[in-house]
Amino acid sequence: MENFERNMNPAMEPIGPDEPFRFFCRKGLSCFGTCCRDLNHFLTPYDICKIKNALNLTSTQFLERYTVHHTGPRSGLPVITLGTGDCPGRPCPFLTPSGCRIYEDRPTACRLYPVARAVSRNRKTHRTTVHFALIREPFCRGFETTREQTVAAWIEDQNAREPIRMNDRLLDLIALKNRFWPGSLPPSHQRFFKTALYDLDRFRLEIKKGLLQDFLTEKETEALDLMDDLALLELGHRWVAHMLRKTPERMQSDESRR
Ligand code: SF4
Ligand code: SF4
Repeated sequence: MENFERNMNPAMEPIGPDEPFRFFCRKGLSCFGTCCRDLNHFLTPYDICKIKNALNLTSTQFLERYTVHHTGPRSGLPVITLGTGDCPGRPCPFLTPSGCRIYEDRPTACRLYPVARAVSRNRKTHRTTVHFALIREPFCRGFETTREQTVAAWIEDQNAREPIRMNDRLLDLIALKNRFWPGSLPPSHQRFFKTALYDLDRFRLEIKKGLLQDFLTEKETEALDLMDDLALLELGHRWVAHMLRKTPERMQSDESRR
């Protein structure tokens, strides 16, 4: 099961999409900002795209300044988390006394909180199932309210539909990777996966240098300068899917046909 949610060891309570829950987060609560500390916060390509633009940074600058990088030991896939530094309580770098500095562009997990969303995929049928849970952290006073909404209404209210759609596309790529490359991705593939999805400004530069010359149509190449970052991310998804389908056997047969 893949998920992008927090890892703070809270009580997780399964909930259905049409089930109501009581929650109302607001300034003035004694817990305000407590949920933005001591994080282990995975960032998706969509999250990075939104935040780096909100901060007016390139993706490369954002990755260097605000994130920690790992490589999944078994998958070889990039794992990017928000760096919290060594300050006491390890606050999120975007937490200010008045709240979140990037609220409109906050990561998906923050948007959904206190709802956690996970997707599981049946290995045989490839069918996916979405699971939801409520994260009931003992310090969070947002549950002390009569205000009630369903999970589906919460997703709408938090403008989380688009991030979820894009994050699910990443899960599709991970499933594709597991199908064509069941072990660890080789370093060459790790590099293109990371650049095309997580480091969009570098990806744009690499395209200009000819990285996608065998993949892009002439029209798409001409439109590159007009393409916004979300369109570029869509292109990155398509290209990564194309590259993942190129197993060593297929690469060899492509070579021999040339
Ligand atoms: S990004 Fe914003 S909402 Fe998310 S943990 Fe940081 S300060 Fe809190
Ligand atoms: S109510 Fe919960 S989500 Fe809101 S600030 Fe407090 S701890 Fe965070």
